[in-house]
Amino acid sequence: MQTFDPDLISVPSGHFIGGKLLAGGAGEALDVLRPSDGRAYAALPLGDAELVDHAVQNAWAAWRSSDWAGRPPRERARVLRRWADLVEADSAVLGPLEAVGSTRPLKDVLAWDVPFTAEGLRFFAEYADKLGGEVAATRSDNLGLTVSEPYGVVGAITPWNFPLVMVSWKVGAAMAAGNAVVLKPSELTPFSALRLAELAIQAGVPPGIFNIVQGDGRITGDALSRHPRIAKMTFTGSTRTGAAIMAACALHGPKPVTLELGGKSPQLVFDDAPNLQRLTGLIAGAITGNAGQVCVAGSRLIVQKGIAPALIDGLLTRFAAQRPGATWDEAATLPPIISALQASRIDSIVRRADQAGAQILGGGLRSTICGDGAYYLPTLIANVAADNPAVVEEIFGPVLTVQTFDTEEEGLALAAHEHYGLAAGVHTADIGRALRAMRQISAGTVWINRYGRSADFVIPTGGYHQSGIGKDLGRQAVEANLRLKSVLIDFA
Ligand code: ADP
Repeated sequence: MQTFDPDLISVPSGHFIGGKLLAGGAGEALDVLRPSDGRAYAALPLGDAELVDHAVQNAWAAWRSSDWAGRPPRERARVLRRWADLVEADSAVLGPLEAVGSTRPLKDVLAWDVPFTAEGLRFFAEYADKLGGEVAATRSDNLGLTVSEPYGVVGAITPWNFPLVMVSWKVGAAMAAGNAVVLKPSELTPFSALRLAELAIQAGVPPGIFNIVQGDGRITGDALSRHPRIAKMTFTGSTRTGAAIMAACALHGPKPVTLELGGKSPQLVFDDAPNLQRLTGLIAGAITGNAGQVCVAGSRLIVQKGIAPALIDGLLTRFAAQRPGATWDEAATLPPIISALQASRIDSIVRRADQAGAQILGGGLRSTICGDGAYYLPTLIANVAADNPAVVEEIFGPVLTVQTFDTEEEGLALAAHEHYGLAAGVHTADIGRALRAMRQISAGTVWINRYGRSADFVIPTGGYHQSGIGKDLGRQAVEANLRLKSVLIDFA
C-alpha cells in the first residue's frame, strides 16, 4: 500500500532570502531525483558566489536592523517555540515532502523526523535566556565580566541523510543564540528546508534572519565558507568536505568551525551481554536504519567468541527479513540508497572486501525494486583482516563487518580505528568492564547497552579525531554560536 502518491506532492523550489522564496531566474538548474525510484521530480536553481553574497549581505543587514539579537531573549525563545509548534502541526505537508525526496520512509518521518525537528527547536529555545557570562571576584573597586554575544551571520551546510533534523540542529542552536543564518542544504535533498523557512516567517522570525541558498556544494558551499561576513561555519557531512570547509575558513578568516564528520563506529559485544534478542535488534537496527546512511551507524561488529555464533545467526535472520522499498511503500522496511552513484560506491567496497579474502554472509547485492531507485540488501561480512577495506573505509550503507576476539584487551584493540572516533557501542552486563571500555575507546560518544540517540538533546554529539570538531546539541552547541566579550571595570 502507498502512504502517498509521489507524483502529487507540491514541491517548493528556489532560494530563500529576506523572508521570500526566490526563483532561480534563467541560471543553471539541476533535476533533483527521488531516491526511491530515481525519477526527476523538481528542478533546483543552482546558486553562485554572487547569489551567496546577496544572501549573506541581506542576512547581515537584517541582523543589524532587526532586534533578533537584542530583544529580550524570552521573546526570541517564544518565536522559536512557535516555529516548533508550526512544524509539528505541518506534518501532513512536511512529512510527504521530506519522504518523497529523501531516504526517510514517511512513517519514520512522521514518528521521528518531524517531532524531533520540532523538539530540537524547542530545546534550543529554552537556552535563549540561560546564556549568561561570568563575574570575576577582583578588587573591591573593580569588576571583571564576560558577556556572551552572537557572531552575527552563521553559515550552515547540511547533508542529505536527515534533511530536516540536521537543519534544526544547526539553525536552532545558532538562532537561539541570537545569530542570523544562511543555510546551504544538500543539493540531493534541498526542498524540505524551504518549507521550514516558510514556517519560520509565519512564526515571527524576522525576514532575513533565516536564509537558504541552493546549489553545488563546491560552489555555493565554498562561497559561503569564504564569505567575509560569515563569522562562523557549522557543517555536517564527509570528512573530506569538512576539511575543505575548514581550510576555506582558515584562509578567509580565520573563523571558527563546528564539524560533524564521518565515522566507522564499533559495536563491542562481550559474551555476557544481556538479552540476546534485544541486542540483536539493536545491532541490526544500528546498521539497517536509514539503510546504514547514518554518520553514527554501528558498522563494525566486534564480538567475543562465545556469543558470536548466536548473534551472527540472529543478525542474518533479521537482515533477510528486511524488505526494501520506496519511502511511500507502507510495507517496506529498508529505504533506498540516496543515489545510484552512492550504491555503486557501497558495492565497490563490498567487492574489494571480497577480493581481499572476506566472506560475504548474506546480502552483498544491489537490487532495483522500484523504477531506477537503488537499494542495497543488508550485508554481513566475516573473515575480515584489520586492513580489509570494509573495516577501514566508511561505507554509508547497510554493511556490517564482523570480527571476533577472546580477551577484553583484544576486543578493545579491534574497536580502535586509525582515523575515525565518532561513536561506539559497548554491550556487557559487567559495569566495570563497560566503564573500562568507555575510557579506552577514543570516540565522541559511547553507548553502553544501547545504541543511538533518542530525545536526549542535552547530551551533545560530536566526534574525536577525523570525525569532527565541536559539538551539536547540548548547551555546548549553543555556546559554540556565541563569542565572549571581556569587560573590566574600575569604579574608583
Ligand atoms: P556526500 O559526499 O555524502 O554528499 P558531502 O560532505 O560532500 O557529502 O556533502 C555535504 C554537504 O556539503 C552538502 O550540502 C554539499 O553540497 C556540501 N559541500 C560539498 N562540497 C563542498 C565544499 N567544497 N565546500 C562547502 N560545502 C560543500
